[in-house]
Amino acid sequence: MSKIKMINPIVEMDGDEMTRVIWNGIKEELIKPFIELNTEYYDLGLKNRDETNDQVTVDAAIATKRHKVAVKCATITPNAQRVKEYDLKEMWKSPNGTIRALLDGTVFRTPIVVKGIEPFVRTWKKPITIARHAYGDIYKDVELIADGAGEAFLSFVGVDGKEDKILVHNFKGNGVLLGMHNLDSSIESFARSCFNYALDVQEDLWFGTKDTISKKYDHHFKDLFQEIFDKEYKEKFKDAGIEYFYTLIDDIVARVIRSEGGMIWACKNYDGDVMSDMVASAFGSLAMMTSVLVSPDGYYEYEAAHGTVTKHYYQHLKGETTSTNSMATIFAWSGAIRKRGQIDSDIELVKFADKLETAAIKTIEEGSMTKDLGLMSTLENVKIMDTFEFLRAIRKNMEN
Ligand code: NAP
Ligand code: MG
Repeated sequence: MSKIKMINPIVEMDGDEMTRVIWNGIKEELIKPFIELNTEYYDLGLKNRDETNDQVTVDAAIATKRHKVAVKCATITPNAQRVKEYDLKEMWKSPNGTIRALLDGTVFRTPIVVKGIEPFVRTWKKPITIARHAYGDIYKDVELIADGAGEAFLSFVGVDGKEDKILVHNFKGNGVLLGMHNLDSSIESFARSCFNYALDVQEDLWFGTKDTISKKYDHHFKDLFQEIFDKEYKEKFKDAGIEYFYTLIDDIVARVIRSEGGMIWACKNYDGDVMSDMVASAFGSLAMMTSVLVSPDGYYEYEAAHGTVTKHYYQHLKGETTSTNSMATIFAWSGAIRKRGQIDSDIELVKFADKLETAAIKTIEEGSMTKDLGLMSTLENVKIMDTFEFLRAIRKNMEN
């Protein structure tokens, strides 16, 4: 069998611990036997980030701008304990944060839906994608404790010296205060990423905030989305037969629960943080959540939503068998390969991505799966496999 050739490379960002182990397994077992894999490799493993003073993360993000498509393995975000464990020069920042800041993207998270793993919400038949705004609000806030009685103000001083000032509250006793912001440029990027992604996957886009209460802040999000939609996307959505609508977030929550799924739900930063955990859990397992960072300039970075699965890695190092589910990481690879194919008009790559995903889903639907899914499955003939048996079972299905 001749292998599929790739014209342009995918930016490959290797990572840490158990996901680094399955990363290699996926390439060797499921990709390289079928494709002459062409990647530009960046080692984002913690050791190499430390050795390069984290320059490798920046280089990988810049390479993504050059090649437009990247696939990323889960990486350790160092904390004090990791600084000791790896004898780090510094507590390096989260690579995902660094990459997101450089690509100015929005993160879209979608569960992989398979027969036998039933969502906890009975009506859900199709995946629900959460699009989370990744800048500002409480994640860049300033906070104060009001220590006793006093007046708190919100003030904006323009570069011309003109001041806009309003009373927040006249405290009679102790309390708390918070100031937060967002930027038109960031909200506009968020909106464009959402509209582009909806067109890409041909699904409706829903957006909700609390604009009835937050008449300036949340309302501003609503207005900017609507302006951009009317000016740039209305016709395209009509042609694609998909819909954009805005409603109160309370209303969205109620509609989502009653829906069949199959839509994109755009969320402000905090709402997206909370709702993506809810949607992931309700669909079954974190190991089945895929994630893609989409920049408004059309760069795509695919990854799994879960972390490096540290506990399994230590079992693996001790020579014990592991139950790491590779589905989300496989789908990160298939997503990147499909996007490479679409950008390069290379149908063979697109077909390969479909084949890989179909084989992986079929394996689970036939009853072969790792323990995390095995414990939840409603199938009768479940066969629980370890990390590597599962990869080999998918390989078999690809060859059939
Ligand atoms: P985690 O790696 O997602 O794992 C938490 C637990 O979830 C695991 O112990 C395992 O449960 C289960 N799990 C997650 N993924 C699984 C999979 N593919 N297959 C089977 N079970 C899976 O989260 P964490 O332990 O909080 O974080 C570990 C490291 O990952 C941290 O250093 C963190 O900084 C990093 N992290 C990276 C990213 C990223 O790069 N995008 C995201 C999150 C966290 P059981 O042990 O019960 O089997
Ligand atoms: Mg969260």
